[in-house]
Amino acid sequence: MSVDVAWVVAWMKRSAQVISEHRVELITLDREIGDGDHGENMDRGFQAVLTKLDDLPAAATPGDVLKLVATTLISTVGGAAGPLYGTAYLKASGAVGAETALDGAALVALLTAARDGIVLRGKAEPGDKTMIDAWTPAVVAAETAQSSGAGETEILAAAAAAAEAGAVATEPLVARKGRASYLGERAIGHRDPGAQSTALLLRAAADVAAGA
Ligand code: ADP
Ligand code: MG
Repeated sequence: MSVDVAWVVAWMKRSAQVISEHRVELITLDREIGDGDHGENMDRGFQAVLTKLDDLPAAATPGDVLKLVATTLISTVGGAAGPLYGTAYLKASGAVGAETALDGAALVALLTAARDGIVLRGKAEPGDKTMIDAWTPAVVAAETAQSSGAGETEILAAAAAAAEAGAVATEPLVARKGRASYLGERAIGHRDPGAQSTALLLRAAADVAAGA
């Protein structure tokens, strides 16, 4: 599928589906090192996104959809993740501007802006055991794929695989940001819920582009 507004809409629909399917998993991860609300928060937010997508004007661009997702998540998700993901999609929207078809460079710009937005908002660094530990490897993998001539679908697949590996790699870390940081060494051995939700969202992006 070409990476246009239909792709963004399909990405968001798939995101809502995948977050709903993994709601209990995200709750469980957040119960282990947080307060247990991450799955609930994300599911509420993406179900609200689903409803909002029905009212999109016919002339909507990818940037318009990303902006709608941002404002919806900010007003419905709550917790730490709401403003962080909201900022991510808002910055991603700005990065793609009024473009109607997203090429590899635009996808790298979208992912980079999303990651940078989360960093701007939450000040996390790589290795702090947050969603950044999924986003940053995803950005690096997307850049590498794009600079070696990969097409859009491959760029998104590289980003998704790197985010999944990044989420797994949060398991041995001590958290330095968010609620999990109160646990000190007791956070070791648990995967960061936000990194896991990021991996799910980026896998959704890749699968939809691949027509899977
Ligand atoms: P809360 O911690 O308020 O209950 P959630 O459970 O919805 O919020 O989200 C928790 C996730 O948010 C964490 O797993 C982590 O990935 C992410 N997070 C928390 N603080 C930060 C931060 N400062 N920067 C980046 N991500 C963060
Ligand atoms: Mg929580």
